[in-house]
Amino acid sequence: MTDLYGMPERTADRGIGRRTILRGASGLVGLAGLQACAPARMVASAPPAPLPGERPRLIPLRVTPDQLIDVKCCIRPLRAAGPNLATELIGDTLVVHNYGHGGSGWSLSWGSAEIAVGKALSVLPREIAVVGCGIIGLTSAVVAQRAGLKVTIYAREMIRRTRSFRASGSFTPDSRVALAAPAGAAFGDVWEQMARLSWKAFRTYLGLPGNPVEFGDSYNLSDKPIVKREHPADPAIIASWANTGLPQQNSEFGEYRERIRDIVPRPIDVPPDENPFTVPYVQRSSQMHFNFPSYAHTLLSEFFEGGGRFVNRDFHGPAEYAALPEKVVINATGYAARDLWRDTTIIPVRGQTGWLVPQPQANYGVRYRNIMLTSKADGVVVMNTNPDIGEMLGVGDSMELPDRGNIEEALKIIAPALAPREA
Ligand SMILES: Cc1cc2nc3c(=O)[nH]c(=O)nc-3n(C[C@H](O)[C@H](O)[C@H](O)COP(=O)(O)OP(=O)(O)OC[C@H]3O[C@@H](n4cnc5c(N)ncnc54)[C@H](O)[C@@H]3O)c2cc1C
Repeated sequence: MTDLYGMPERTADRGIGRRTILRGASGLVGLAGLQACAPARMVASAPPAPLPGERPRLIPLRVTPDQLIDVKCCIRPLRAAGPNLATELIGDTLVVHNYGHGGSGWSLSWGSAEIAVGKALSVLPREIAVVGCGIIGLTSAVVAQRAGLKVTIYAREMIRRTRSFRASGSFTPDSRVALAAPAGAAFGDVWEQMARLSWKAFRTYLGLPGNPVEFGDSYNLSDKPIVKREHPADPAIIASWANTGLPQQNSEFGEYRERIRDIVPRPIDVPPDENPFTVPYVQRSSQMHFNFPSYAHTLLSEFFEGGGRFVNRDFHGPAEYAALPEKVVINATGYAARDLWRDTTIIPVRGQTGWLVPQPQANYGVRYRNIMLTSKADGVVVMNTNPDIGEMLGVGDSMELPDRGNIEEALKIIAPALAPREA
C-alpha cells in the first residue's frame, strides 16, 4: 500500500520500516521524475515530518527561470540610531513617530506599535490618526483600536501598494535596524522589548485560515564546514558613519539577536545520514514567515470590523498633520519620512526579491553561497545577497528599479545545490 507520496505506508514498527525504505531512496525526491510523471495526488500536501534520525524526503524546489513571476525592489529605511519613536508637537497636535525600521519593519511591527500607541495614550485621546498604511501604520492602527481608540488611517497607498509589500517576509528583527555606536546600549533594551512583543503577537496568527504567519524549515548549505560568519572591524577603513553619514563596513551595524535566543529557534547541524542535499554541510533551523496577502487581509479585516476608517490622502509636510481633526497622530510613513519630515538621518538601503510560482509541496527554505530561497504560501522568494559585505549591500542606494538579471543569476547559482541525490 502506498502513501500520498508513492512510498509504502509506515509499518507498525514506524522507525525501522521507514528507515529501511529511505536507505534505498533518494533523500531529495528526483526533480525530473517528479515533474514528468508524478500523479497530481503526489503533490497535494507537504511530506510528513521526518522522524529523528531520518533523512527528510524533500520535494525539490523548481528554480528554472520560467517559474519567475515577479521581481520587486524596495528601500529599507535605516536610521543609525534605530527607529524614530520620538514625539513632537506641531501646533496643538501631538505627533508620535513610528518609522525607520530598516530591514526589520515586519518583524518589529507589533512591539513598535505598542510603544507608539502607549505614547499616544499618554494624553488620553478618544480618537487618533495614523499616517501611513504599510506594515507599521496598519499594525499601529490595530493596536490603537485594541486600546479602545477610534482610528482613521490617512495614506497615499494602502498596504498592498506600499514598500512593505516588496519585502521578503521573514522574522528578521535585527536586519539593518541600527548602527551599534550611534544607537547606543539603551537601544538594545528597546529593541528587545519590540522583538519579544512582536514574536508573541505573531504567534497568535499561527494556524489561522490562509496561514498569515507560519513556520518553515530553512536549510543552510555549504561546501565547507559551517562556521558563524564574523565581520570584525577592518582597521584599514578609516571612514565610518560618524565622519561620512553612511556606514562603511559591516561591523558598524548593531547585532541584537542574542538577546532573544531563548525564544527563537537556533540552527542545528544536520548529520550526513539526515542530509537531504548533495552539498556536504547542512544546518537546519525553523524560521517564522509572513504571507503578505493573507496577513494584510487579516489585519485589514480586523481594522475595518473594528470601525476603522481609511482616507486616501497625500501629505506634503508636517503642517498638514496639524490641520487634521484628530489631535494625536502616529506618523508611520517609512522611508518617505526622509522627504516629508526632512529626516535626512534616514539612510536608504536598497534590496530586491524575485518571486517564483508558489510551491506549497516544497515548503522549506534554502541558503547556498550568496543565494536565499524561502518557500512561502505567497511564492518562493529569491534573494541574491553577498555574505562578504553582509549588511552593507545596498547601503546608500535609493534606486528602486528591479534588476531581473540579478535574480536569474541567483537561480543559476542555487540550482546545482537542489539537484536530486543519487540513490
Ligand atoms: C528587499 C527587502 C526585504 C525585506 N525583508 C524583510 C523581512 O523579511 N522582514 C522584515 O521584518 N522586514 C523586511 N524588510 C524591511 C521592511 O520592508 C520595512 O522595514 C517595512 O516595510 C517598513 O514599513 P513602513 O510601514 O514603515 O513603511 P512603508 O511600507 O513604506 O509604508 C509607508 C506608508 O506611508 C504612506 N506615505 C508615505 N508618504 C506619504 C505621504 N506623503 N502622504 C501620505 N501617505 C504617505 C505610504 O503610502 C505607506 O502607506 C525588507 C526590506 C527590503 C527592501
